Amino acid sequence: MFKTVPPTPTPSEADLAELFRRWYRYIAPRTRLPETIHVTFYPYVGINNTIRLKDGVLRVKLSDLLADAPASVLEAVAGILLGKLLRKPIPPKCEDVFRDYARSLPVRKAAEHVRRERGYKVVSGEQGEWYDLSPLFDRLNEAYFNGSLTRPMLTWSRARTRRILGHYDATHHAIVISRTLDARTVPPFVVEYVLYHEMLHVKHGVEHIGGRRCVHTPAFQADERDFVDYEPAIHWLKNFADLGPRPRAVKRRKKS
Ligand SMILES: [Zn+2]
Repeated sequence: MFKTVPPTPTPSEADLAELFRRWYRYIAPRTRLPETIHVTFYPYVGINNTIRLKDGVLRVKLSDLLADAPASVLEAVAGILLGKLLRKPIPPKCEDVFRDYARSLPVRKAAEHVRRERGYKVVSGEQGEWYDLSPLFDRLNEAYFNGSLTRPMLTWSRARTRRILGHYDATHHAIVISRTLDARTVPPFVVEYVLYHEMLHVKHGVEHIGGRRCVHTPAFQADERDFVDYEPAIHWLKNFADLGPRPRAVKRRKKS
């Protein structure tokens, strides 16, 4: 099963103020300390941090993406921000530590999530305009697989393919669902069914029968019929295929 790493506890504002006070003394030992130091987390888009010194008050706003960052990263951020503010050389280690953290996968993922939440459109990924594949996967995994499937990369296709509605890429452990299904007019059970079908490919793997690649074995098909809305989904998809406009972005069919 997929496990998450427990987050580092978020430091208090008093701890953060103390951290900045300590760095201030270190970077500018001969300069008078600001009377007040305010450090807060702020929901910026992406990892932005700001610092301002006015009338003896130092105000620091840190991206809330840093709220569960390791202490070493917050130290580095304090060094960078104060170095810039006070026009002093920034300790090289600070820049390295911060750069490595910002590049690290969980941070980038969180940044992407935050961008989505705050209204930035993403062209691909698991969050579509109408449906989010991530909770659908979790629900189906619990309901039909006892949570046993390893989470693949989930993504909506970039192109609106109508002929291929879903695809499991075993090499990259990725499920791609056609963006045509990410629409208000598509009922949830249809999206779930197509995703469920691809999840069965994860479960069954690729089997070969008589030298031919055949992935829809009888066992696969039996599992498919366990889907609670199997009949309505098949029916809906048949109409969708028959009635829909001809796709433009798919490969030309061979003439026969
Ligand atoms: Zn299939």
